[in-house]
Amino acid sequence: MNTQILEINEQSLALSKQIIVGGGVVAIPTETVYGLGANAFDTQAVDSIFKIKGRPNDNPLIVHVHSDYDISMLVSEIPEYAKLLAKAFLPGPLTMVYKSKGVVSSSVSCGLDTLAIRIPSHEGAQKFLKYVGLPIAAPSANISKHVSPTSAQHVFDDFNGKIQLILDGGRCKGGIESTVLDCTGKVPVVLRSGLITRDMIAQVVGECREYVYKDGALAISPGMKYKHYSPNCRTILFSYDRLEQAVQTYRQECQNGVKVFLLCDDSVAKLAGCENVLNLGADENQIAANLYARLREGERVAELIIAIAPQKTDGVMVGVMNRLCKACAN
Ligand code: AMP
Ligand code: MG
Repeated sequence: MNTQILEINEQSLALSKQIIVGGGVVAIPTETVYGLGANAFDTQAVDSIFKIKGRPNDNPLIVHVHSDYDISMLVSEIPEYAKLLAKAFLPGPLTMVYKSKGVVSSSVSCGLDTLAIRIPSHEGAQKFLKYVGLPIAAPSANISKHVSPTSAQHVFDDFNGKIQLILDGGRCKGGIESTVLDCTGKVPVVLRSGLITRDMIAQVVGECREYVYKDGALAISPGMKYKHYSPNCRTILFSYDRLEQAVQTYRQECQNGVKVFLLCDDSVAKLAGCENVLNLGADENQIAANLYARLREGERVAELIIAIAPQKTDGVMVGVMNRLCKACAN
């Protein structure tokens, strides 16, 4: 199969609709990462997403809809706090999990009685969702466990020959996946951290909890238990306060002839003074936006990536650290 990367215009939107209605998958840009989308009503199409990605079949997908879409067609029990949050943050990088009405394919939620819904703010994503006029089930458009894609080229690198169309909406500005928020209880619970932080949510609705997955426990957000986001090279992660050891390890590995690169933010790069650096940028939004691109760059040039955690660990950095820890897990 020939994989096309096309700018978003009338012609490519028409082609994307033809593919989606025909039961195929299309890669689409969002403000977080690129997604691999299929018609959420079509079980075969949804199942093919799992096959193409090699995604475990107990890790549910998020349904993406246009900002005009009436989500009460898909889910029941929308609590008052969810309406407030929708007003404050949507369209945007916040996915909300509700009780499902069971009208989309049961493959989307892997048999769970809940449904995760997201309204992306990316202009190209909105155009696509309006044009196809269907709820689109879409996980990140990467081979399962590999680094998530933040450009059309990243998607191409993983799926060349395996999918027909990548809609090119430029580089994703957000850079890490949406915050996933359980809205089925009295109080919202963050299942996956992202750019909409727990504090931002609590500011709107008063209280917000955070779910911590413990190994072996039954996961309410099944995606959290998997290794993820990993580059195809060796990685080591050091906390910020172990910067000195990280630099020592870098020097030692260099002496051993290993192609080693530091992955760190701009301030750490200056302190470390190492030659080979994958620089994540200066502030937390840059760090989130650059994380996956630098990891993908790293796997091309390095045999070993030594990552150093940013000094700040709250806010958006909760989401960044979650990705970094999984990317560097063994
Ligand atoms: P990805 O599509 O790769 O961004 O992953 C989607 C994330 O949303 C995973 O962490 C899933 O576990 C989570 N998710 C999707 N649907 C649900 C659901 N119904 N309940 C809880 N978590 C969900
Ligand atoms: Mg993913």
